[in-house]
Amino acid sequence: MIRIDLTGQVAVVTGGSSGIGLATAELFLRAGASVAICGRDRERLARAEQGLRERHADAPLFAMPCDVLDADAVNAFAQQVQQRFGRTDMLVNNAGQGRVSTFADTTDDAWRDELDLKYFSIIRPTRAFLPMLREAAAAGGNASIVCVNSLLALQPEPHMVATSSARAGVLSLVKSLAGEFAPERIRVNSILIGLVESGQWRRRYEAGAQPGQSWEDWTAELARKKHIPLGRLGRPDEAAQALFYLATALSSYTTGSHIDVSGGVARHV
Ligand code: NDP
Repeated sequence: MIRIDLTGQVAVVTGGSSGIGLATAELFLRAGASVAICGRDRERLARAEQGLRERHADAPLFAMPCDVLDADAVNAFAQQVQQRFGRTDMLVNNAGQGRVSTFADTTDDAWRDELDLKYFSIIRPTRAFLPMLREAAAAGGNASIVCVNSLLALQPEPHMVATSSARAGVLSLVKSLAGEFAPERIRVNSILIGLVESGQWRRRYEAGAQPGQSWEDWTAELARKKHIPLGRLGRPDEAAQALFYLATALSSYTTGSHIDVSGGVARHV
């Protein structure tokens, strides 16, 4: 494994209290970065923080409850990060969840909520952390934004019509941000994920599995139904590694791009 030393650098991960975000925070801590995470549910966030502290004693870690759709809360989060760590080098826009609904059963309000979530979960943190990212870039450091997006952006699914449509828009947004910030040496990229084992899927398993069906059997069946060539769901750490690559100087000549983390589900060349 390539080792990279991020001592002195600060990574912010929205939605860092579970799944992919938590796995990403873990990787940054392991590499020596200072890490700030946020999420809405205080208990989940506290559990995540405790787990990270158990595995990384004395780690420079900051966890703050924050809804990324609340502009004031996001600004307060950024201010706290600045006070505690004095800088931000890498922002991972990960917070969110998907919406399962067809066109027939998606109301106007549901459309608005979904578009709001997918766009503003990127727009608000990006705006709030941009001044610190600019400072990091101006000082000659690695400054980057990475967004968690979905393969639905390129390969829409009718049963997730609003999410798919919003994801395609986010792909465009990432490209535009990359173009706008490139002269300032801030890189912007995304990952396109397929199905990754996480809190979202755990909740769907708990709600929908047959009595007595194990998590392993349920996810194996899901992988078969979804025709995933690699034959299984991805693990959060597999998505996290792609995020880590795009966030750090390992990918210093990459911007406006994306990495597919879908187990081979993408059909396009
Ligand atoms: P999890 O449910 O495990 O984690 C989601 C994280 O985001 C939690 O920490 C959650 O905490 C936080 N979160 C959600 N909404 C907000 C909000 N408004 N403000 C702040 N934090 C929020 O799921 P995943 O790890 O799977 O999800 C990570 C990202 O990956 C999401 O954007 C999701 O849409 C995307 N994705 C995941 C796929 C998968 O198969 N797992 C597929 C495609 C995309 P809390 O609820 O306490 O706020």
